[in-house]
Amino acid sequence: MRAARLHEYDEHLNVQLQLEDVPLPKITKPGEVIVRIGAAGLCRTDLHIIEGVWKDIQDPQRTLLPYILGHENAGWVEEVGPGVTSVKVGDPVICHPLRSCGICLGCRRGEDMYCEHGSFPGLNCDGGFAEYMLTNERALIKLNPNVAPVDVAPLADAGITAYRVAKKAARKLSPGQYCVILGVGGLGHIALQSVRELCGARIIAVDRSEAARKLARDLGAHYVLDGTDTIVQEVKDLTHGGAHVVIDFVGELGAEQISWQMLRQGGTHFVVGYGGAIHVPTVHMIITEIAIEGSLVGNYIELVELMELNAEGRVKLHGKQYRLDQINQAIDDFKHRRIVGRAVIVP
Ligand SMILES: [Zn+2]
Ligand SMILES: [Zn+2]
Repeated sequence: MRAARLHEYDEHLNVQLQLEDVPLPKITKPGEVIVRIGAAGLCRTDLHIIEGVWKDIQDPQRTLLPYILGHENAGWVEEVGPGVTSVKVGDPVICHPLRSCGICLGCRRGEDMYCEHGSFPGLNCDGGFAEYMLTNERALIKLNPNVAPVDVAPLADAGITAYRVAKKAARKLSPGQYCVILGVGGLGHIALQSVRELCGARIIAVDRSEAARKLARDLGAHYVLDGTDTIVQEVKDLTHGGAHVVIDFVGELGAEQISWQMLRQGGTHFVVGYGGAIHVPTVHMIITEIAIEGSLVGNYIELVELMELNAEGRVKLHGKQYRLDQINQAIDDFKHRRIVGRAVIVP
């Protein structure tokens, strides 16, 4: 089958994925499923993988390369292994990004991302920038008949990551309070719609790209700012003292440092984007009682909930399609912020 594989890490992103013919994935264990990929989202994590940010975590022995990236996958069931009963050949499905075990305590608590025996196609084994991918039955959610894989693939990861943090934020927000969404890209535009659907908070969207700001306005942000050097003061003025929640989808290039400064007393800074480091004076933490909280992808049920909102047209993905053989162009466009919403790779 055709697949796009990474052959070397490069911290400056000056490498291309290689399009090549590779053997088809094979079912070797009960519960495994092969999915014919309908579409796969391109994620900033793919760029961070290429840069080598993940190599000491996912590839400490340096035995992973070459391998197939792509962890935001949807398509159709192609083949089912022994014991699979909930899906059949031909079913349209979206794949939770983790192949979790179902047995460990993390899984039994419902937090798939805490699975002790999980694997993450596209991160630590072959993913979906290919015609077919191996996953397991537990990862699959059947799509509503009116939903096409290409319209939802990035919801598998970008979508649930945004939805999980929006749900955490909504628990802390009341109508009239303020939520800053920093970065209205692939995740931010889903979070904006999710916060809008889950609570009555006022949303302040911040992005340096004019196209992203336009998307934020179209999706119902109450205020849209361009993220210049005066952003902290602008947010403080607009919110009469600081935001109640800031969700940072950038996490690097200085965004991680301004996020907590926009909060009022008792506010929460959610960290979703990554790459940088946060330095907060401890005295500031106690005087303001702010909290800084991470958020990691999302669990299976969160993806089920998001797919319900999507099927009703309440949270939609804005994407741009590329063919698999255009994947390096897509990466380049992503790197230079020429994509509004999410890039979707179609094999
Ligand atoms: Zn992703
Ligand atoms: Zn588990």
